[in-house]
Amino acid sequence: AKELGRDNYRFYTAGLNERASELLALEGALRQAVDKNHLVVYFQPQVELASRRIIGAEALVRWQHPENGMISPVDFIPMAEETGLIVSIGEWVLRQSCLQARQWQVAGYPPMRISVNMSARQFRQKDLVPMVRRILQETGLSPEYLDLEITESILMNDVDGAVERLVELHSLGIQLSIDDFGTGYSSLAYLKKFPIQYLKIDRSFVRDVIIDPNDAAIATAVIDLARNMNLNVIAEGIEQQDQHQFLLDRGCGYGQGYLFSRPIPAHEFEQLLVRQQGV
Ligand code: C2E
Ligand code: CA
Ligand code: CA
Ligand code: CA
Repeated sequence: AKELGRDNYRFYTAGLNERASELLALEGALRQAVDKNHLVVYFQPQVELASRRIIGAEALVRWQHPENGMISPVDFIPMAEETGLIVSIGEWVLRQSCLQARQWQVAGYPPMRISVNMSARQFRQKDLVPMVRRILQETGLSPEYLDLEITESILMNDVDGAVERLVELHSLGIQLSIDDFGTGYSSLAYLKKFPIQYLKIDRSFVRDVIIDPNDAAIATAVIDLARNMNLNVIAEGIEQQDQHQFLLDRGCGYGQGYLFSRPIPAHEFEQLLVRQQGV
């Protein structure tokens, strides 16, 4: 803070410059990673809370760095968003995800939805709708099995534009979810304008839902709201049995989290499908 004086300020700007060149290096490395196929899509099951049956999967991208190992999307998605790289990465993730979902269907597993995250830039991309249509055609995935997750903050940034966009996407026959619900500045009045089918309760409310009465109240309110609006609810970040039970008792239909499975590579996910089908 201020009282630390000039030296601290110098230190801070040096840090910023360093960070700028680090970012530049990171951008170059990420461009290469895209070209060299070093990105990989992991899948995290979405389950019906009552039965724990898998009803879908969220696609989550990772960067398999040859030297640094697996890099989390939190460490490169914001930069990719800033530089615009996210547009090609996002398209690649979407294609991989639809392809994988289609392959599992062809292999005979019960059809399930695949949820893909949209970045702000992608969501505003002019040719988003034709791009999604083209990928569905190319991969042969029927639109009702694709779900796009758009964060509340992206939607709230420009509500009228968002409504228009969502209507176009919805007309493709795909499903739409609001991600990280409750973290933005949602005016609930807007919610009814969005042609969405799912609300995802943000992990930050689930984490302490057992011990923090405020989080419990918010989670319960979102579940009730969704039910009254005929929307499905998915709770994120369920790690413990008592969180699962709490949400189930309040009428939350679906969930995902480490309690059920971490995000895993496609071949491991397929083992879950085998086990579920097997018996
Ligand atoms: P998100 O969309 O909110 O995804 C959920 C994050 O929570 C994932 O982190 C997931 O691994 C993590 N998670 C799931 N269950 C649990 C749990 O029980 N406990 C805890 N502590 N965490 C859990 P991940 O994979 O690191 O992704 C982070 C964020 O990166 C995502 O947040 C999303 O905003 C972004 N992201 C990931 N893949 C993509 C992508 O393909 N495109 C875009 N635009 N963003 C992506
Ligand atoms: Ca998400
Ligand atoms: Ca989320
Ligand atoms: Ca989140």
